Amino acid sequence: MADSFRVGDALITRIPELRWDDTDPAVLYPDLDAAALRDHGPSLSAGSYNRATGRLAQGTHSWLVRHAGLTILVDTATGNGKSLPAAPKLHDLRTPYLDHLRAVGVAPEQVDLVLISHIHADHVGWNTSWRDGAWVPTFPNARHLYSAIEARYGASNDGLAPAPDLPPAALGPPDHPPLPLVYRDSMQPVIAAGLGQAIVVDGSEVAEGLSFHPTPGHSIDHASIRLRSRGEEAWFMGDVLHHPLQVYRPDLRSGYCEFIAPAERSRRWLLAQAADSGGLCFSTHFAETSAGHVRRRDGGFTWQFAPSIEDAQR
Ligand SMILES: [Zn+2]
Repeated sequence: MADSFRVGDALITRIPELRWDDTDPAVLYPDLDAAALRDHGPSLSAGSYNRATGRLAQGTHSWLVRHAGLTILVDTATGNGKSLPAAPKLHDLRTPYLDHLRAVGVAPEQVDLVLISHIHADHVGWNTSWRDGAWVPTFPNARHLYSAIEARYGASNDGLAPAPDLPPAALGPPDHPPLPLVYRDSMQPVIAAGLGQAIVVDGSEVAEGLSFHPTPGHSIDHASIRLRSRGEEAWFMGDVLHHPLQVYRPDLRSGYCEFIAPAERSRRWLLAQAADSGGLCFSTHFAETSAGHVRRRDGGFTWQFAPSIEDAQR
């Protein structure tokens, strides 16, 4: 059963792809110290932290947003058949993601907009599907919005078009580059089909109530996407956070963050925005409903999952 939420006039539904419950916290967070789970483990719910095994639960999915007459996907998870041997959990998947989308009444042809927080394998994969020997757009009538800088960096890393000005010096040196082939397999076919729209991530409105806000660090020009509707607010956090533990310990970088110091600054900025606005936060990799609220406590932050509309009916 899907998990749906109302924010103002918007109906927001999680389109699941993967779930797993065996993340080693020391792999996800390379700088993990013993105090992190000792102090904050009791604040984590059993659906996110298995005290018996010491492992963390995570997943991948998209957020379907139906708002102002538009059918919108925020990030497109990993996709089927993508070659990602460096990320075994994501490599060469066969998931019924598109069936989950159809089950809530949306055919791929009906998607109007795809909003991309950043160009990483598990956020752009369903942009394309393998058909007749080529990657072709999965959502043939959708405009795909993404950071122009992310796209130039991706094209450069995949050897398609050099971008000697990237990354900008202000971000510091990258800890590592993004996974190869992601731009080539999941972005270039969409752009070649005329379905791409590169944007400047500057907080301006890209569709009614929707805006991309700079939260660089996890990736070169990572965006957090805000929705405002009827005085209510939602934040699609992308990969600013990977697990609720990081709400309590925003100093912890994930092993997947490319620019470590900016990633922490962005994490603290978004947590403050979310806490002070009271907006509903939609994560990409949290388990359970994957949505919840950030609140301030004792100079830091806490996380509480929000029940979905379906939870209330169960
Ligand atoms: Zn991710």
